[in-house]
Amino acid sequence: MSALFGPGGNSESFYSEGFKKTEQAPGWVKSKGLDAYEYEGGQGIRGSLETFAKIGEEARKNGIKLSVHAPYFISLSSVEEEKRLGSARYFIDSARCAKALGAETIVIHAGSTAKLDRGVALEYGKAALLHAIERLHEEDLYDGVLLGIETMGKVNQLGTLDEVIEMCKVDKNVRPVVDFGHMNARELGGVFVTADDYKRVFDRIGTELCPEYADKLHCHFSKIEYTKGGEKKHLTFEDTQYGPAFEPLMKAIADLGVSPTIICESDGTMAEDALAMKNEYLRYKA
Ligand SMILES: [Zn+2]
Repeated sequence: MSALFGPGGNSESFYSEGFKKTEQAPGWVKSKGLDAYEYEGGQGIRGSLETFAKIGEEARKNGIKLSVHAPYFISLSSVEEEKRLGSARYFIDSARCAKALGAETIVIHAGSTAKLDRGVALEYGKAALLHAIERLHEEDLYDGVLLGIETMGKVNQLGTLDEVIEMCKVDKNVRPVVDFGHMNARELGGVFVTADDYKRVFDRIGTELCPEYADKLHCHFSKIEYTKGGEKKHLTFEDTQYGPAFEPLMKAIADLGVSPTIICESDGTMAEDALAMKNEYLRYKA
């Protein structure tokens, strides 16, 4: 097995080359030499199940692995119980979308810790996650999906690697999604300099959760500008100031022999930058 690479959402070049519909994205992604595509539902899961099924069909035809980004409205750690429990509906929307697409991983931002002690936020988060899982079971949507809890980029968001690992312990279908750019931005840079810095993330997930989770890790990668609160803005690979550098990550995954899916979330050039990563990875792997 090999690592897989692809864009989160559609690159600017997808549209400038005259493509319009996301049904065309899997074929386009394949034509660029990529392997994966993340459907962006951050602003809400808006398409019809019929459209998702068409995207899924195109992905299967082109051998593209799909994942879904769940709405940003999920708030598992809100101070308001109604919002915590109400977040389940976004899980249901996302799971319906994932099933129609034939996608497995649903990427989730857990929520904010701004008004809470972090320990309390984590306990709220785990309980609300279990509630969402119960609701997915009731709707018969849980089997075959993986709930991916993402490491977050802002200091006041729930989602350090420690917190993500804790949340993953609530159930077997909950997995870590590692956004390396977020982790770097949250600590105001300097987190990932060498391949060993990246390897430690895979090692911790393998040891503290399960080796298979590390092997098949779903990842996000982009260079991200930060201020003292952490993440400010996604950049492109043109950036040389904020990082992190992707080259040591490619060396790390080639050395470890793991097969992660790496979704690039660069600002507008996600497909091009995903391909830059893939080419670098293939150089190390050869
Ligand atoms: Zn995300």
